[in-house]
Amino acid sequence: MGAILVKRNILVFVLDQLSSRALDLYGGQFRMPTISTLASDGVTVDECYTIYPLCQPARASLWTGQYPHRNRVWSNGRECPITPIDSSFPALGEAFAAAGYETRHFGKKHDGGALRGFECSEEKERKIPDEDPAFPFNMDTYADAYTMDETLSYLRSRKDDRPLLMVVDLINPHNICGWIGKNKGAHEDMPYSGELPELPPNFRFDDIENRPLPVQYLCCSHVRQGQTSEWTEENFRHYLAAYRYYLSIADRQIGEVMEAYREAGLMDDSLIVFTSDHGDNITARRSVTKQVTLYEEVTSVPLIFSGPAVSAKGQRAKGVASLLDIFPTLLSAASLPADSRLDGLDISKVFSGEDLPERKYIASEWYTEWGYTISPGRMIRSGSIKYMRYLEGNGEELYDMDADPYERRNLIHDHDYHDILERMRTLFDEYLEETEDPFFTLCVKADHRWRSHKPGYENHRGPTAPEA
Ligand code: ZN
Repeated sequence: MGAILVKRNILVFVLDQLSSRALDLYGGQFRMPTISTLASDGVTVDECYTIYPLCQPARASLWTGQYPHRNRVWSNGRECPITPIDSSFPALGEAFAAAGYETRHFGKKHDGGALRGFECSEEKERKIPDEDPAFPFNMDTYADAYTMDETLSYLRSRKDDRPLLMVVDLINPHNICGWIGKNKGAHEDMPYSGELPELPPNFRFDDIENRPLPVQYLCCSHVRQGQTSEWTEENFRHYLAAYRYYLSIADRQIGEVMEAYREAGLMDDSLIVFTSDHGDNITARRSVTKQVTLYEEVTSVPLIFSGPAVSAKGQRAKGVASLLDIFPTLLSAASLPADSRLDGLDISKVFSGEDLPERKYIASEWYTEWGYTISPGRMIRSGSIKYMRYLEGNGEELYDMDADPYERRNLIHDHDYHDILERMRTLFDEYLEETEDPFFTLCVKADHRWRSHKPGYENHRGPTAPEA
C-alpha cells in the first residue's frame, strides 16, 4: 500500500423540493449566487433523477442507497404507515461511522429510520420575522433558522479530530407549500415590486386527455393542487416568484455554512455535494409542488460535486444519474469499500471530468403520499426516451426527451414510435425483474367521487380526497 492518506471530509447539502429546471444551471430562470459558486468550483451533473418525488421515500432511498420498493419506505405515512428501516439495510451514516468518521446530520430528517449511524441534531423551529409580506415564512423556514443556529454553532466550536461526514438538510424552498395555502382559491396577489418570472413553455396542459387517469385527476388527490384550480396566470407567476424567494433564503444559508466550514479549517481536500430530495412542478401543466406524476420538473434534481476533491472545475458531466448513486459515490470518495447491496453506481469519475457511465435505465417511482389515494406509477429513462407506467388502467406515457423536453405530447399512440415503445416495454419488464419491483401486485385506491369533472386542473372544485 502507498502512503497513509488523511481521510477526506465530506459536506452534503440537501434542499427540499428544488427542481433542477428552476436553476439557470439547468436552463431555468433562477440564478442563485451560492449554488452558482458551487457549480463553478466543481462539476454539475447534467441530469439526475430522484428515486421517488416525495420527501420520505426519496430520503430513505438516498441514505440507504436502495429503491423504495426494497426498503418499503414508500409513502409519507398517515393512512399508509411505513415500517421503519431496520439494521438489515445499508445505511450511509453507519458505513462512515464504522470507518472512523464523525457523522453529523443537521436539519430535516423524515428518513424512515435511514439516518442510522448519524448523530442528528434536534428538529426544532426558531420563529423569525417575515422579510417580505408577499412571502410569509412558515414552519419550514423556522426549522431552517434553527438548523442554521445548530450548524453554525457546531462548526464554530468543533473539537473532534476525526474525519467528518456532515449533512445540512434545509427545508426550503418547501415553504412554497404553505404559501399556496395562504393564497388558495381565486385571489388578488399581494403587491410585489420585483419582476415576475415567466410561465414555462409547458404551462398549458393541451394533451391532458391523452394521459393516465391518476395524472388527469391529480387535482383530486392533492390538497395543494386543488387549492390552485381557480388561479389566474398571474397567480401562477406569483407562485414562481415565491418559489424563487424561498430558494434564495436557502441559497444564502448554504453560503453561511460554507464560510463557517472553511473558517473551521475543514476544507482541506473536502468534497462538497449539493442536491435536493425531489423537484417541484414550477407551474408546468398548471401544477404545483409534487404528486403522482413523474415528469421532469418533479423527478429531476440538481446534483453538483464541488470543492477541492473535484478537479473538473466549472465542467458538466454528460449523461444521467440517480440519487441512488450518492451512497456508492461517497464511499468511493472516502476510499471506503463498496457495498454490493446498493442499487446505484459509483460516479466519482465525474470529479476528474469524465462523463457518467452508460446504463440500461434509470428508474423513479410513485405510490402514495398519505394513503388517501394510491396510484402506483413507474418511470424508466433509457437514452433520450422516457417511459411511464401507471397501474390504474394500465396507463402509459412515452416521451422523446431530445425532441420534446417539456413532455408536451404523449407518444404512446404514435406509430413512428411503435418499435421504441415495444423496446421500452421490454426494458420495463427487465427493470421489474432485476430490481424485484412488486409493481403489478400493488393496490390502487382511487375514489371516483373525485373524478367526475371534465379533465383539466382548472375544472376542479371543492375538496380533494385527503380533505374528505
Ligand atoms: Zn379534480
